[in-house]
Amino acid sequence: MAVESQRVEDFRLAKEPYYLPLGNEVELFESAYHARLPVMLKGPTGCGKTRFVEHMSWRLERTLVTVACHEDLTASDLVGKYTLRGDETIWQDGPLTTAVKAGGIAYLDEIVEARKDTTVVIHPLTDDRRILPLEKKGEIVAAETKQRFVAIEFDYPPPDLEETILKAESGIDDDTAAKLVKIAEKVRNLRTHGLEEGVSTRLLVYAGQLIQGGVEPIAACEATICKPITDDLEMQRSIVE
Ligand code: ADP
Repeated sequence: MAVESQRVEDFRLAKEPYYLPLGNEVELFESAYHARLPVMLKGPTGCGKTRFVEHMSWRLERTLVTVACHEDLTASDLVGKYTLRGDETIWQDGPLTTAVKAGGIAYLDEIVEARKDTTVVIHPLTDDRRILPLEKKGEIVAAETKQRFVAIEFDYPPPDLEETILKAESGIDDDTAAKLVKIAEKVRNLRTHGLEEGVSTRLLVYAGQLIQGGVEPIAACEATICKPITDDLEMQRSIVE
């Protein structure tokens, strides 16, 4: 019976992903990696977690396999399953198995969105068993030594660093970057007034890219900052002000 595995070279990053460290997260991740400890990244959406993982996989020269988790994700989607190809039944490794076999980094993005019965498959990988059982295939793939979770906390970058990131990611000038970060600061403060999500670094990068592409700054900010973060018209008005 044929076995199909996703080719790991498909996942290698060609060039260094730009990442500006905000604290000791690079050293922490490297230490966790060398001690073979799994890492959990916490923090609001759009604050740099994905970029950080991309950067670390490049730095550590490890294959990166990313899975966007969601409610309908099943354990087989992660581990692998038998599928029919013509008259032949073939085993297709899932992304988690691909990562384990390649000794790479598996990034389960938004893992909190996945159901419990899906995420149980990572338990034997992250506790001291360090194995990935492929139940349907009756096979066990061994990972390396013992591990538990190490959490790294993320948040929006401090103003000076966020300005640096915006300039690097969109090419805008100092003045525009400073203004965007000021707006972000004000909007983030509205979170205590009922706004659920603050404006993310990602949205600021979008604003910068539109401005750099010739969109008038106010229109750019409306499209990237006001509209995406709330449907509440009253709140949108406060933000526009
Ligand atoms: P998350 O995974 O936390 O939702 P992302 O990693 O997708 O967020 O970050 C969104 C964008 O913000 C990135 O694509 C990048 O442009 C920018 N960004 C945020 N933080 C940093 C950082 N420290 N260094 C470089 N770029 C950053």
